[in-house]
Amino acid sequence: MPKSIAIIGAGLAGLTLGQRLKPQANVTIFEKSRGLGGRMATRRREECAFDHGAQYFTARSERFRTLVREAMIAGSLAEWPAAVPTLTGPAQLATDGRSGEARYVGAPAMTGLANHMARGLEIQREITITPLISEENGWRLRDQDQRDLGRFDLVISTAPAPQTARLMPQAFSGHAALAEVRLSGCFTLMIGLEIAPQLGFEAARIDDEILSFMAVNSTKPGRPGKPALVVHSRNDWAEANLESDRGAVTEQMLASLENRTGVNFRQAPWIDLHRWRFANVEQAAGEPFLFDPALGLGACGDWCIGNRVEAAFQSASALADLLTTILAEG
Ligand SMILES: Cc1cc2nc3c(=O)[nH]c(=O)nc-3n(C[C@H](O)[C@H](O)[C@H](O)COP(=O)(O)OP(=O)(O)OC[C@H]3O[C@@H](n4cnc5c(N)ncnc54)[C@H](O)[C@@H]3O)c2cc1C
Repeated sequence: MPKSIAIIGAGLAGLTLGQRLKPQANVTIFEKSRGLGGRMATRRREECAFDHGAQYFTARSERFRTLVREAMIAGSLAEWPAAVPTLTGPAQLATDGRSGEARYVGAPAMTGLANHMARGLEIQREITITPLISEENGWRLRDQDQRDLGRFDLVISTAPAPQTARLMPQAFSGHAALAEVRLSGCFTLMIGLEIAPQLGFEAARIDDEILSFMAVNSTKPGRPGKPALVVHSRNDWAEANLESDRGAVTEQMLASLENRTGVNFRQAPWIDLHRWRFANVEQAAGEPFLFDPALGLGACGDWCIGNRVEAAFQSASALADLLTTILAEG
């Protein structure tokens, strides 16, 4: 009988693992959100599309480049932007010191890569997994309503480290490494417009005490809707303001944006704020993945290695290398 494997999370790590293990096992992915992609996320409102998590990513390892090439051919990825200057003062731009390296975005939305990778996988959406229940030679999963989701031989969590720590039993050997991980938050401001602003860039880093980055999201390939801006706060500022009033956070970000761009966006037809509790990996686990062979439990994700989309892929690929060998040995 093929082994049954539950994967928690349908971000890039969970989907990478799912694709690799599918030929050798019965794999089910459980995802708490309606959409796929985790922090590679897209929200649509009022004819605008906002990639409100990851903005673009690079591909430095040959393995990841192979996936990127496949997804480009399938039309699920595109290159963007050509340059990322830095906004240093009111409407002042410093040139991109890191241009030359290809940057990629999902197409027609940031979730494009996840949707590409979800093909052929059994994915149950809008299911939040609660702490795992030990059963003889396996684990029983339950959702937020305590519904029984079945018994699995192996369970792998790709949820951010603090959430993974809450799911795993005390006996899990990865707890010490999980406790080392530190993630910081981020606020994302989404601004929908009728007329595209003349900012002089598609994306820019921002040298500021509150803001860190902004993108004219509607300039990404395959986004035909109305003009849309995505503005990220700094992670340290978000950490200090995580529990602050949303209206006050929005106003402070808008004031900084006006200061940096010279444009007052307060009258925009649509403004919303998203709070990421776990956005950025400040300190990684320092191990490519966690796996407890005695318990049949594991974990992977960007937080094992570093703070990038490619880190999520690399962590899941490394765990898949081990698990495919174990599964082949029976
Ligand atoms: C604001 C922001 C900006 C970023 N910018 C960039 C960038 O420009 N470039 C870059 O390379 N990276 C960027 N990143 C980081 C990048 O998004 C991540 O490194 C990568 O997407 C992580 O993938 P993952 O699969 O490891 O985790 P995630 O994408 O977080 O996936 C984990 C999944 O687990 C699910 N989950 C959690 N708990 C449960 C549960 N109990 N039950 C079921 N499902 C659960 C979550 O819903 C999620 O879908 C950014 C991230 C954020 C938030």
